[in-house]
Amino acid sequence: MAFIKINKQNFYHNLNQIALKTGSVEKIAIVLKDNAYGHGLELMGRLASEFGIKHAVVRKTFEAELIKSLFETVLILGDSIVKDDVYSFTINTLADITKAEQDAKVELKVDTGMHRNGIALDELEEALHLIKEQNLNLVGIMTHYRSADELSSELFWQQKQFEMVKQRVKEAGFENVRFHSHNSAAILRMKHFDEDLVRVGIGAYGYNELAEPFDELVLRPVMSLHAKKVSSRVLKSGERMGYGGDFMANKEMLVSTYDLGYGDGWCRDNTQNPYVTSEGLALLGRVSMDFIALESDKEEICVMHDAKVVAEHFKTISYEVTTALSPDIPKVSV
Ligand SMILES: *Cc1c(COP(=O)(O)O)cnc(C)c1O
Repeated sequence: MAFIKINKQNFYHNLNQIALKTGSVEKIAIVLKDNAYGHGLELMGRLASEFGIKHAVVRKTFEAELIKSLFETVLILGDSIVKDDVYSFTINTLADITKAEQDAKVELKVDTGMHRNGIALDELEEALHLIKEQNLNLVGIMTHYRSADELSSELFWQQKQFEMVKQRVKEAGFENVRFHSHNSAAILRMKHFDEDLVRVGIGAYGYNELAEPFDELVLRPVMSLHAKKVSSRVLKSGERMGYGGDFMANKEMLVSTYDLGYGDGWCRDNTQNPYVTSEGLALLGRVSMDFIALESDKEEICVMHDAKVVAEHFKTISYEVTTALSPDIPKVSV
């Protein structure tokens, strides 16, 4: 099977870069949802913890369970709210508050402009009141920016809204509440940071999806994707290979199949404009469920060392390229 190499040095480099912005490692919450963006939940959790990261963010409780022992706090973005010493749960709606188990640790998400999840600004006092009434333990107030990665002032008006939210929460008498709003794009873009936590995903994995003009930190991709040779053959000029015979050899050539396909989460692509691997080899013909073909007989090839390059080819973003990779692909830390 194909395999993924996790470059620990690059991961630590990225975390150090982010710590320069936050002022300390303690303020970084590593986002490990969706199998750590395809990098491997438990492996990345362990590496982050060894680096000194104290806080993690996942989507579901089953993910949190796999990394619980590694962190002081784990924020669960969307699951049933229960009482736990390590877990805190995001409240997205007023109804979430009434369904929550008493004494559970919760972090209230406030919609400051993204209009996707979170309670509305004019529901804030009601939410705080309900949280008290239900005996929930409010440990955080959060929001999410819709345009942190775009060159516009939108980020700044959302930030202003969040500043007002902070004020109102303090006025309501809540203490020991952590405030957090920044994702990777926001922290990479900001010159001054004075919140309690950043929720960093893609930046830690080495990608910056910001437009050019921003003051960019140098980040290094953590993941590279490799495949192993399955079989080789010589095609004669005029012979076709793969489904539909889309690829035709125009000379005698030595080709091999490698053990990566769309079943592993690699994109099936378009035969007319094939992806070219990091080693400069164009994929020949259609991608199969478990195989690609290349003009090579090397035992092992590097398919990608930078998901952003792949994303540009497939007209998507680095997040989708790495997250789509099957959790079954073995990972080795180097
Ligand atoms: C996924 C997620 C993040 C991390 O975003 P990146 O752009 O990968 O840094 C932060 N906050 C929330 C609420 C998220 O869902």
